[in-house]
Amino acid sequence: MFKALLVEKNEEGKTSASVTEVSEDQLPEGDVTVAVEYSTVNYKDGLCIGPGGGLVRNYPHVPGIDFAGTVESSDDDRYKPGDKVVLTGWRVGENRWGGYAEKARVKADMLVPLPDGLTTRAAMAVGTAGLTAMLAIMALEKQGIKDGPVLVTGAAGGVGSVATAILAKLGHEVAAVTGRPDQADYLKSLGASQIVAREELTEVTRKPLEAEVWGGCVDAVAGAMLGRVLKQMKYGSSVAAIGLAGGAAIDGALITPFILRGVNLLGIDSVMQPFENRQAAWQRVASDLPMDVLEAMIQPATLGDLPQLGSDILKGQVKGRVVVDVTA
Ligand code: NDP
Repeated sequence: MFKALLVEKNEEGKTSASVTEVSEDQLPEGDVTVAVEYSTVNYKDGLCIGPGGGLVRNYPHVPGIDFAGTVESSDDDRYKPGDKVVLTGWRVGENRWGGYAEKARVKADMLVPLPDGLTTRAAMAVGTAGLTAMLAIMALEKQGIKDGPVLVTGAAGGVGSVATAILAKLGHEVAAVTGRPDQADYLKSLGASQIVAREELTEVTRKPLEAEVWGGCVDAVAGAMLGRVLKQMKYGSSVAAIGLAGGAAIDGALITPFILRGVNLLGIDSVMQPFENRQAAWQRVASDLPMDVLEAMIQPATLGDLPQLGSDILKGQVKGRVVVDVTA
């Protein structure tokens, strides 16, 4: 038996989450069993700890869309007991049991060996949010980041915090957009040189274009903010769109920035990334993200804290990266 955060559904269709003992034969099929050490709290986890938001197929369910730990047993030649591994994506924690348990069983293809220079705790401080931030930055680099500040929206959140820190370390001037003015010092400590109030960018305008300001953008928010930001992008620059914390549509967006300024909108999906891309992004994280800055983003938590944290992240109230010590 081992400990897990189990989400159950009653006959009226109501879900409830609690820390419970479960048995190994309840784990899904897979060729590698991992002793999980750390997991994290992402927006999708908030949905899956609650009613599921359409992501969870079967109950009872163990959420946790990412984890890092040590291989306990393996039927695949690529992994042997004792190897340190990390997992993000593949709908683990959504349509199969995830990282909020002392054990997880997955397919070997879903794992990445822990990169040199990262502990399992640091890997989860990065987690899905951080890996997505890195993938977004790599996509911007491929198109070419233009001169001028790089905008990061939803900056005090998980993706935004890591994107801010990495871009600053790479030498870019980072403008961090936040709806929480009390987080200005935190964002400056991550390397932001400019703090932009959320309200400055959420008013929907009918203007086709505005003054060119941003040399690139990592956007975690969409909604009205992305509609405005597109009109302020520099000629030939790119926006890497990773999330929709502010809405699933792009309010007020027009075709003009794409046609008259050659702006690129790059969609970033971390879930189905092939092994090579995930490994390359993890290697870049290990080399480009200063560990002392990463430490400043961490909020420690245990399995018992998750019901509350799941609700907090859906309200946009979580700062930085929550690292769940699954064994505590
Ligand atoms: P967080 O909740 O940690 O951060 C989101 C941030 O967005 C908040 O902290 C807040 O930042 C800002 N925000 C929240 N609500 C609003 C609003 N109504 N209007 C404007 N800004 C808002 O989540 P994550 O960083 O983990 O994830 C962000 C988004 O990215 C989510 O939609 C998530 O599902 C998605 N995602 C996508 C991935 C992919 O593969 N594409 C992978 C991981 C996440 P502040 O207080 O600073 O304004």
